[in-house]
Amino acid sequence: MLIVQSADELCAILDEKRSQGKTVGFVPTMGYLHDGHMSLVENAKSTCDYVVVSIFVNPIQFGEGEDLKDYPRDLTRDQKLCEGYGVDLLFFPSKYEMYPNGDPPRIEYPEIMQKLCGVFRPGHFEGVATVMNRFFSIVGKCKCFMGKKDAQQLVVVKKLAREHYPDTEVIGCPLVREESGLALSSRNYYLSPAAKDTAAMIFQSLNKFVKSLRPGCNIEEELYTCKVFLSSLDFDVQYFSFVDARTIEDVKDFVPGHYLLAVAAKIQSTRLIDNFGVEVNQDMSIKVDRGVYKNHKEVQE
Ligand code: AMP
Repeated sequence: MLIVQSADELCAILDEKRSQGKTVGFVPTMGYLHDGHMSLVENAKSTCDYVVVSIFVNPIQFGEGEDLKDYPRDLTRDQKLCEGYGVDLLFFPSKYEMYPNGDPPRIEYPEIMQKLCGVFRPGHFEGVATVMNRFFSIVGKCKCFMGKKDAQQLVVVKKLAREHYPDTEVIGCPLVREESGLALSSRNYYLSPAAKDTAAMIFQSLNKFVKSLRPGCNIEEELYTCKVFLSSLDFDVQYFSFVDARTIEDVKDFVPGHYLLAVAAKIQSTRLIDNFGVEVNQDMSIKVDRGVYKNHKEVQE
């Protein structure tokens, strides 16, 4: 596996691969890799000839008082994992390599960035879109694999690619969970074993909500009930929302469409997010995307 720190070098290597007719798969991460990240790598390996993983803890997507300094890092371990999964190239750029001209102008899509997580992390998605803009300009034509775990991020990055990088296809991959239902996250590293058990109740609260979905149900009331349930377990719930999957607008009525049931809650100062994709069909039947377990089995209720 090649390890590359220079953007110019990466660009040259990938141009050469494409000139040989190879397709490039790109998996952007902030490192401290877990099975969720590695499932993206597996998806990339299964559809692309040459797979690149990037590790960059992007400073401009962290707000003041957030965990930029403490964010878990372990390059040696990440490197071994990537090698084991057959990654071809690990891109590990410095801040200077990513932002050679200093603080970059931000990309802003207020209509989708200032909802859900954007309310509690102002500037976060602007930082994400800006770093992805830089990545896409370096990596060039590729398939980019990202997790549905960060559903709002996926909406933002898909819009960026649609508008500026028609050669880049952004592919949303299933959210990977522990057996307990807890969504895998590098930030789970902060949790004590007891807090991890409690954190699994987030998954239960999402299940509780989808069970209540039926024609005529009061969505606002059901969301409130779930929020109260999590609060009673000592979560500091930032939002528990049912939104349109494309516009991120709140949904009040149970009508056919594609939705996102999304939650953000803090436990012992660790901020966790989770979501289900919900499809309401014309006949009012519901299909719920709860993701997969680490062993790849589809998550049922
Ligand atoms: P991060 O390192 O947290 O920036 O995540 C890098 C990529 O991994 C993003 O596309 C995330 O959505 C994805 N990811 C993180 N956790 C999971 C998970 N539990 N399941 C699927 N994808 C994930």
